[in-house]
Amino acid sequence: MKKKICILGSTGSIGKTTLQILSENKKDFEVVLLSGNSNVDLLISQAKKFKPIYIYYNNFYFKDKIQSFCKKNKINFIDNLKSINKIKFDITVSAISGIAGLIPTLDIIKYSKKILIANKESIICGWSFILKQLKKYNCKFIPIDSEHFSILNLIKNLNRNSIDKIYLTASGGPFFNKEINLNNVTINQAINHPVWNMGKKISVDSANLMNKILEIIEASLLFNFPIKKFSIAIHPKSLVHAIVQNNNGLSFLAYHEPDMKIPIFNSLYDELNNKKFFKNNFFYKNKKENKLLFFKPDFKKYPALQVLDIANKYGKNGIIMINVFNELLVNQFLSKKIFFSDIVRKLLLIMQSNRIKKYLKINKIKHINDVFKTYNFCKGILNW
Ligand code: NDP
Ligand code: MG
Repeated sequence: MKKKICILGSTGSIGKTTLQILSENKKDFEVVLLSGNSNVDLLISQAKKFKPIYIYYNNFYFKDKIQSFCKKNKINFIDNLKSINKIKFDITVSAISGIAGLIPTLDIIKYSKKILIANKESIICGWSFILKQLKKYNCKFIPIDSEHFSILNLIKNLNRNSIDKIYLTASGGPFFNKEINLNNVTINQAINHPVWNMGKKISVDSANLMNKILEIIEASLLFNFPIKKFSIAIHPKSLVHAIVQNNNGLSFLAYHEPDMKIPIFNSLYDELNNKKFFKNNFFYKNKKENKLLFFKPDFKKYPALQVLDIANKYGKNGIIMINVFNELLVNQFLSKKIFFSDIVRKLLLIMQSNRIKKYLKINKIKHINDVFKTYNFCKGILNW
């Protein structure tokens, strides 16, 4: 029997990589639900190729176009995941970017036997709610952010008490070895990642190291270790994704080509036999080619490192705020309202203000609505 697949965010970078794997393995998988947002033409061409049963789409602007396409092609159009009926997806891939992925992720768990989550923002903002849903609907979970997928595999046979430090590697982004005035950085320069080809938001986050800060917060939630257990190693070739250092002097590294196909493929196939055989090329072409270099990140170059201390101090609602302010500031940069260097500068300034401290003292996260209350509060502060 073919596995039934649902993809939230099929028109994005993770969504497209997933579809590429599925199209190479048609005998094992059947695409049942696709979803997108602004890239309507791509969504339509994906639907023509994969013939899903459902398209989930809730962007007001292009709704009519998608709806009439669905009608013509006998595809069920849904703008609310709660209206799915009597279906269980074998595997869902949650790959919407930003906090917009949180509610769809929570809703889709009900209909999924297994969920692969790429969307780190929803984990940061709603992990306790996601966890509850996973238990309630007996849904298996695999993180597919490459560092987290690596950590999961590295620690599964280790004694937790022997783990001294977990390093997440970072390429260092496009400005790692460059002397550049960060005020003058253009959008294209910021999203021109040296190794990975990803969506705009995560590419900007990678350029100032905020992606790694968010990933440490994500890892601390997923693996239930304090933030202090994690560190960052700059590793420009992005071949090693995580390092687990034990207190007996042994460190374990997870190595794979910098290609999201590896975590996605292995997570799709974790309970199936597959014949695919990926190879790693450890050998250097010449003596100058240093593949395995690791550097400590420099606080001057990456002021975002200070955000970790704040995350450590402020707890659950504080990390939601960090995620939300960052997301809103990245959007402001992408719409040319602020400089690239303003993203982290403003984030640090706001997070250390008395107004935020006061809000965090009074407001705790008990219900999913509290997450969106914080979201609206942050929006209000930035518009002020
Ligand atoms: P993209 O920007 O390439 O894709 C995002 C997807 O989400 C698109 O399908 C987009 O639709 C859809 N989307 C955006 N906003 C909304 C919305 N409001 N409602 C519904 N759908 C929406 O991002 P990536 O694929 O790069 O990243 C996705 C997630 O995975 C992020 O959280 C990222 O941090 C994480 N991740 C990504 C990695 C990568 O290599 N790309 C690696 C590890 C984690 P449309 O394009 O049609 O507008
Ligand atoms: Mg990652």
